[in-house]
Order: sequence, then structure tokens, then C-alpha cells
Amino acid sequence: MLKTLRRIIQEVNAAQDLPEALDIVVHEINEAMGTEACCVYLVDEERGENTLVATEGLNKALIGKVRLKLGEGLIGLVGERAEPINVENASSHPKYVRFPGLGEESLNAFLGVPIIHQRQVLGVLVVFQRESRCFDEAEEAFLVTLSAQLAGTIAHSVAVGAIQDFNRSHGAPLREVILSGITGAPGVAIGTAVVVYPLADLNAVPERRIEIEEIDAEIETLKSALQNARDSIAHLGDNIASAGLPDEERALFDVYLRILNSESLVSEIIQEIRNGQWAQGALKRVTEQHIARFESMDDPYLQERASDFKDLAERVLFHLQAREGGRAPSFPEKTILVGEDVTPASLAEVPEGRLAGVVSARGSTNSHVAILARALGVPTVLGVSGIKVPQLEGEELIVDGYYGQVYRSPSLALRNEFMALMREEQEFDKELEALRDLPGKTLDSYSVGLYVNTGLAPDVGTALSIGAEGVGLYRTEVPFMTRDRFPSEEEQRVIYRQLLQAFSPRPVIMRTLDVGGDKDLPYFPVAEDNPFLGWRGIRVTLDHPEILLVQIRAMLQASVGLDNLQIMFPMVTTVSEVEESLRLLKQAYEETIMEGFAVKMPRIGVMVEVPSAVYQAQVIAKRVDFLSVGSNDLTQYILAVDRNNARVAGLYDSLHPAVLRALMQVVAGAHREGKTVSICGEMAGDPVAVILLLAIGFDTLSMNATRLLRIKWVIRKFTLKRAKQLLEEVLVMDDAIEIRNHMELALEEAGLGGLMRAGR
Ligand code: PEP
Ligand code: MG
Repeated sequence: MLKTLRRIIQEVNAAQDLPEALDIVVHEINEAMGTEACCVYLVDEERGENTLVATEGLNKALIGKVRLKLGEGLIGLVGERAEPINVENASSHPKYVRFPGLGEESLNAFLGVPIIHQRQVLGVLVVFQRESRCFDEAEEAFLVTLSAQLAGTIAHSVAVGAIQDFNRSHGAPLREVILSGITGAPGVAIGTAVVVYPLADLNAVPERRIEIEEIDAEIETLKSALQNARDSIAHLGDNIASAGLPDEERALFDVYLRILNSESLVSEIIQEIRNGQWAQGALKRVTEQHIARFESMDDPYLQERASDFKDLAERVLFHLQAREGGRAPSFPEKTILVGEDVTPASLAEVPEGRLAGVVSARGSTNSHVAILARALGVPTVLGVSGIKVPQLEGEELIVDGYYGQVYRSPSLALRNEFMALMREEQEFDKELEALRDLPGKTLDSYSVGLYVNTGLAPDVGTALSIGAEGVGLYRTEVPFMTRDRFPSEEEQRVIYRQLLQAFSPRPVIMRTLDVGGDKDLPYFPVAEDNPFLGWRGIRVTLDHPEILLVQIRAMLQASVGLDNLQIMFPMVTTVSEVEESLRLLKQAYEETIMEGFAVKMPRIGVMVEVPSAVYQAQVIAKRVDFLSVGSNDLTQYILAVDRNNARVAGLYDSLHPAVLRALMQVVAGAHREGKTVSICGEMAGDPVAVILLLAIGFDTLSMNATRLLRIKWVIRKFTLKRAKQLLEEVLVMDDAIEIRNHMELALEEAGLGGLMRAGR
């Protein structure tokens, strides 16, 4: 049974689109269970109906036409109860509804199981049998298991596009398809999708249409990549022969060569190119069909050949990509970068001024790609479910970073609506510029320092232009990530000096290297089962004092004559880490002095990012000059919610009462020691949170440059007295949603509703 399950899932995953996947599902289930008919119904939210979208054994002409109100019929009952319904004789059930012409009259046994994804019933999977009987436990378990597995793959696309696709193919008017995700960076963008994809991965190759006049050149590209692949395989075969390996090993290379020389395979790929697909896409389409065929074979030997075929196709792909490697994808004027996993590095590849938006299937609000996008002011939607990324290439998309939605095939009316919203945005930004030189002071004259986070983006210019009081967090990882080795002391000194100089005399808080978690160094890979609970931040640099010492020395040297440097340590969990870091810092300081640099001892801080540091805030504060809360990680660790995982993003909220109480404890601990305390996570740039942060008593807030003027606007509309009152009100509330609603209302009442409407 497990084998059958696996095979069905594999075939479904290899399907080109949802209709094909559903056809496979109904066909395979019917075969595997020996039933007379199998159907899939999907929920059409807009119409409030369950719609027949695939069948094997019943009248296919009624696909898209059989529509039952939610709750109607046995199908409706399965959906309503969200559990399997197993009946001996469907037609004698009180809920049974007959649909003329469908052909289920002669069928008696009925088993329907819901397709559920993230608590939501997306549809129903049904099997029928002529014989009047209840399906047994094993059969029911099989269908339930299959449905749960399919929910992860099919149901995603069901949720977002399938119903529209079916409506469209059954004559209903064309409507835009809405893809839902999580807001990564606020704002709205309209542009053209450019798919970013990892190399040498057949599945990731985007569908790219080519013009008629490009076809010949594309065929030539394919032929030459095939020839290169043949040459390198022949070469490998020769190497193996000279190494004296047995003939069976060599035989594999002969098989590879035979496949590559196969006229029919090559002509199938060429035909796809002639149909307007670029060479990589054509290779992918054809080989995927072959791979699926091998995988569906019963003979285990032939099944194994699927992986050989994939290996071979990826070799050809490698040569295709090597040929095209130098040819950077063309980035249109308004590029919307789309990918399975868009990384901070891929954002950097888009020429300046062309990046309009970002859409990624992975990631969540506090992923570093989201933080970077916010710093760049690029509307971003992450964790988008149901996108077949490769198919989006070249499509017009609207990215709504406020509500975490992406629109495909937008209607003219919708486009105009978003254009108007974008104009409104620009006007709002202009109005905010008037606040540039005004202090971050409440109506009752309570001042809070407004600092910027920098490092991930070339945002120093913006930070200066909006009148930031300094840098509250400089993420030093970037110069480490963009090289193929650790940067030298001198390289680091030059980079740090530029930043200190740009902000002088304003303070700059530099954080020591914080890698691990979702920030990898390409030349220092760390493979761990739980990277966020593993070797991160200070844990790495204390284990490698040579890296930390070089970095601190570079920072100190960079500060000569400017004296605006402050240093802080990330991911501190224990007091001994603080002490060891301070010892190394002192060593670096003394060495720098001995080398003749006239450096001043900087102010030193510790980031509070894990629960243990919250409970020990006071003893940590005693040992340093300041604390800075990294609320992104602190929220992740207090709530045990991976900040990168879209599936649990609904649970991630920094306004959770437990997080608010932790923040209060940290501020109290620091202040008891007479030390200052700042917050530099994304929470500091959230208008809904900022009033509470004032009331809690943070001395400074550090945020993305793009958020600073908005936050200043909010602060200037409130009194500290009102903020404290609001804090008291929310402290008796039990959950984050209640607190968020309460704070949104308070902003609304203060005349800041505009910020709320769009979450801007
Ligand atoms: C944080 O965790 O809140 C923080 C500021 O650090 P980073 O986002 O770089 O992990
Ligand atoms: Mg952090």
C-alpha cells in the first residue's frame, strides 16, 4: 500500500498542471482500490459550492457542471463534518442528491473523505462501488492517507487557482487568480515576473516562451549542449575504463550515450522548441514525461531507470545553462522577482532601479529576504502557496505587500485600482518627508531615539536623508556573505570605516558576525538538523576567536578619530558567553592600542534574543553598557515558531502577551542597572507595536530606514500617558489578535487610520 501511495504521489507531483494531477488521482485510486468510480470535488468559495473537477468512471462531460451547494448532498456532509463518510448504499442516505446524467445510479457503496489543508476543507475525494457494502478500515485508511498527502501538493493550487481555471475552461468569465501568501514588505507593485531558480535543477526550470525568429538559434543551443554532454559522458566512460572498473559500470555510460543519441528523444525536444518553448524548458518537459513513465512502471529495475534519466537530463541542462550562463536574464523595467526560494543574493542581481516586487514560495515575514526587501522598500509577498513557479515567467503580476496577495491576469479595473493606490502611496511618502528634521517626541514631550538598521541593503543614503539619529544595528554579515572567503582585517576595516564616517558624529552600533540559522556563508557551510537551535551568532565566533578578534580589531581601527563606534554581541544565551566575549574584546582592544592606533574603548552591548537572556537581563546588563532586544529572534524562541516557516506564520506575532512581558522584564532589568535599552527587531518599525514599546520604556528604537518616518509620525501623535494607558489595557488581554485589534483601534482614533488601512 505504501508503494502504491508513493507512486501516486510521485505521479501527481510530476503532473504539468492541476487538471492533469487530478486525472491521475482519480484514475490511480480507481485502479488501486478496485472501485467503479472515483471523483474529486473542490470547494468554490466564491460561489459557495462543491464542484466536480475530475472523475473516472462517471460522466466526464459533467466535469465543472455538477455543482452542489456547500453542505448539500453526501459530498456536502463530508465537507461539513470534515471527516470520512462511509455508507453501504448512497441512494438510501437521507442526504443523497442525484445529479441526472452523472451515472452513479447503479453504484451503491460510497466512501468520501475530505481534502483538508491547514484546517480548511478544500474538497472531497470520493469512491463508489456497485456492490452494496461498507468500505473496510484498510480502504478508508488508504483514502484518508492519500488525501492528507495530496493536500500538501494539490490542495495548495486548489486553494488559489484551480476553481478559476475550471470556471474559465467551462465558459465562466475570466477572473484574476489570487495567490495568497504572507506579507514580506509593504507596498504595491505591478510588473513582469522574472523567475529565479537554482541551477542544475530540472524541476526548477521556468517555462519561457520564445519568438519564432529565436527558434533556430535555440535548436542550435540544444544540439551543442547535447554534443557537450555526449563528449563529457564519453570522457567519463574512458576514465572509468582506464581506472580498470568492471564492465557493468561502463555499460551505464553506454546506455547514457544511447539515450542521448536517440533520434526520437532529440526530436521530441526539438518539437517543443518549435512550439515556442526555450531549450531548457523543452528539455524539462520532455524528460519529465519520460521520467514519470519510468517511475510508474511496476518493474523495480525499470523504476530505477527514472533516476538515471533524470541524472542524464541534468547533465544536458548543465551544458545548456553553462552556455547561457553568461547571458544574464533580461530584467524588465518593472521586474517582479519570483522563485521557490528567493534569497537576499538574488535580489542583489537585479540592476538598480528595476526591482519592483518580490514573490517567493518560501520564507516568512521575518526571513532575512523580507528584512532586505523592507529595507529596499520593495513590496514583497512570501510563503505563497500553490504557485507553480516555473509557469509564472513573463506574466504580469500585481504584488500586494500589504495583504500578502499576488494577482495573476489582473483585469483592467483591478489594475487601475492598484495604480491609484500606488499614487496615493507616493503622495503619503511625500507628506512624511516634512517630518525629516522634527524630533521623535510625543505630544507630552517624551523623547525616544530613532535609529536605523543597516547592512543588508545599500540604504545608508536613505538613512541619512531621513534624518536618522544613528545606526542601531549594523548587520556585519553582508561583507562575509558576498565573498568566497572570510574578508581580511583590512578589507573589513575599510568597509566599517565608510559606515562610521558616513554617520559621524552619530553613533553606529556594529554587531559582531551573526551567521547560522538562515544565514549561511558559502565557504563555511554548516549542516545541522535544527540550525536555529544550533551553531549561530556568538556561539560560532566564540568557537572561532580568530574570526571574532580580527573583526573587532577591524572595527576598532576603523573608529580611530571618529569615536562613534559601539559593538554588540548577538544570540547570547549565558553570562559566561558575555564574559568570554568581553575578554576577547579587551584583548583585541589592547592589541590595537599596542599596534599604535589611538582607539577609544567603545560602548559594549548584548542582544537579548533568547528567553534565557530575558530572565538574566539584569545580570547581563550589569556587565555591559547597553542591551538591545532582537525581537525577531526573541519572538521566534519565546513562541517556538520558526521565523522562516510560512506554515506556522499565523502563530508568529510579537504582540503575543508573553513577548510583551518579556520585553518589560528586559527593560526593567537594564534600567535597574542604570543601562540603556534599545529594540532593533522588525517590531520597532511596526506602527501597531511602537506605542507599546514607548510605554514599556525603550530608550531607542532601531528599524529599517523605510519605516522611520512613519514611526516618527505615530510617536508624534500620541502622549506617553496615553501609551501607558494602552499598555495597561493590553496587559489584561489573553492573545495577540486581541492586542493587535485594540492597538489598531487606538491608532484609528488618533487619526492614523491611513496607516492601518494598508498596514503601511
Ligand atoms: C533580531 O533577531 O531581531 C535581529 C535584529 O537580528 P536578525 O534579524 O539579524 O536575526
Ligand atoms: Mg537575531
